[in-house]
Amino acid sequence: MTYRVTLIPGDGTGPEVVSATRLVLEATGVSFDWDIQEAGVDVMDRYGTPLPDSVLDSIRTNKVALKGPITTPIGHGFRSVNVAIRKALDLYANVRPARAMQGIAGSFEDVDLVMVRENTEGLYAGIEHDVIPNVAAESIRIITRAASERVVRFAFDYARAQKRRLVTAVHKANILKATDGLFLKVAREIAEEYPDIEFNDRIVDNMCMKLVQRPREYDVLVAPNLYGDIVSDLCSGLVGGLGVAPGANIGNDMAVFEPVHGSAPKYAGQNKVNPIATILSGALMLRHLGETSAAKQVETAVATVVADGRSVTYDLKPTRDDPTAVGTREMAEAIVSAMG
Ligand code: NAD
Repeated sequence: MTYRVTLIPGDGTGPEVVSATRLVLEATGVSFDWDIQEAGVDVMDRYGTPLPDSVLDSIRTNKVALKGPITTPIGHGFRSVNVAIRKALDLYANVRPARAMQGIAGSFEDVDLVMVRENTEGLYAGIEHDVIPNVAAESIRIITRAASERVVRFAFDYARAQKRRLVTAVHKANILKATDGLFLKVAREIAEEYPDIEFNDRIVDNMCMKLVQRPREYDVLVAPNLYGDIVSDLCSGLVGGLGVAPGANIGNDMAVFEPVHGSAPKYAGQNKVNPIATILSGALMLRHLGETSAAKQVETAVATVVADGRSVTYDLKPTRDDPTAVGTREMAEAIVSAMG
């Protein structure tokens, strides 16, 4: 069987980490027919948009995509292509596992967290405007029962399928009584449908402190969009940083796999950044395709290379300027060698 998969290299360091991931995925023996689609700042001039329709059409047809990060201008310019893809395809659950690996200095041992982030509304609805230019601006935060129900249900179904014990809803319902109040109310209702899974909730600021102090007490977290985005970066930091954090955007019949990190443009073209966030996103894709043993093969090889500590990128060395750090490509090649 050959899987036709939309492949979006992205921009900045995206093409480098995606190419490294292709190398590893193809080494599993699983057969891919890559439908390569360009998006991001580099295609603006050619197509007049950073997200040509052909990209969305390709994902709609193939149902599965592997995506590199894409730059979003800060404070001006086009809206995020990443957010636009998630919204256009209704990829409502953003799943971001953060699992400790042996050999990463400064990371917490035994941490095994999964953030399930609502991916289609909240502050990312992008409904904002100047009230008085340069004086006041307004952003509208949308929380609906329907979107909250499906993402919380996804978190519980995920917990059950992965044999996890606890789902924690993350919110700020003490202050945002209408919006987060609704999210929390819905989460409590859905929790009653899953008596086999424990449930609790935490206010987002307190959640951040607790994750830093006692991350092992938590398991699956579910949160509205913005908190999910921020807290998942915090979780990545507990286990080694953005270079190791994979992600998946899941809808009812489509899925797009991408690292948590962005395009890290300052390192673009330098063969420097860590490819394993994208490689592990590729392993999540293999699981999604039902290729469980290939997924395990990739995850085990990544863990072996990280634990060994020699063929790793700068971010996994004891100091950032360690001269023994290898490049993106070389780390991917070491992972392929470890696959035996
Ligand atoms: P970033 O994640 O690109 O990088 C922040 C820092 O994290 C980097 O400077 C680097 O030190 C480190 N880092 C990131 N990825 C790494 C890797 N693979 N290996 C080692 N270190 C790594 O965040 P940013 O600088 O805030 O954002 C850059 C651009 O990416 C922005 O335009 C932003 O909007 C975009 N972005 C895109 C996505 C996405 O495509 N899904 C996600 C987040 C940010």
